[in-house]
Amino acid sequence: SVELRDIHVSFGTLEVLRGVDLRVASGKTTCVIGPSGSGKSTLLRCVNRLQEPDSGDLLLDGTSVIHANPDVLRQRVGMVFQHFNLFGHRSVLDNIVLPLRSVKGLTKEEATAIARARLADVGLAEKAPYRPSALSGGQQQRVAIARALAMDPEVMLFDEATSALDPELVKGVLNLMAGLASRGLTLIVVTHEMGFARSVADEVAFMDAGRIVEQGTPDQIFDNPTSPRLRQFLSQVL
Ligand code: ATP
Ligand code: MG
Repeated sequence: SVELRDIHVSFGTLEVLRGVDLRVASGKTTCVIGPSGSGKSTLLRCVNRLQEPDSGDLLLDGTSVIHANPDVLRQRVGMVFQHFNLFGHRSVLDNIVLPLRSVKGLTKEEATAIARARLADVGLAEKAPYRPSALSGGQQQRVAIARALAMDPEVMLFDEATSALDPELVKGVLNLMAGLASRGLTLIVVTHEMGFARSVADEVAFMDAGRIVEQGTPDQIFDNPTSPRLRQFLSQVL
């Protein structure tokens, strides 16, 4: 499981997370939805401590990792961003091989074998020698996902992984993410794709102004929202 307890984050005088509690059981998927600026990305970044909270606790499988070595934590918690963050001057294969070697200390042969396997998993085995710029946005995002999966994480975080993609490329990436959810990875997915949240999430958390205002099953959140703020949000996005 992944658990955030009473997480607070401020930037100067702006309190961006105002006491967030979130627990995702192992193998489950939670989608985080909410308006722009509500703190979704900041929340996600706290889970692999790209953002260090001002206070609160972070637990993996019941053990606090809020003071653990962040590099070790990030091997257990992978993250995929809106803008892929691939190395542009390296081949697709090297984008996966190099972090495996530097972070996990694998040999070139070991890292290459894992990288090729993960590329095959996302349907891009034949793209291994190309630069990322030779791939479509959707293919680049699948490489970024393969790179994160190559680390063999327990938890995967997705921050609007399809928001930068052309509409016809969105589906392939969402299908890949849905496959990870059904394979029993633990996922936290910030998304504007309400169809994905409804069909894939075990739970949906609605954030507004630095708090989780409402949380429940997709049925509860989309069909029986209780808070006025969530109703208003859904009326704008559905
Ligand atoms: P969006 O849907 O637009 O991505 P979000 O819900 O992900 O929004 P965050 O990116 O978490 O929102 O930002 C929450 C608030 O914190 C915003 O007001 C943002 O301007 C502010 N913020 C985020 N990062 C920083 C930072 N490094 N320094 C100062 N303010 C920040
Ligand atoms: Mg964001």
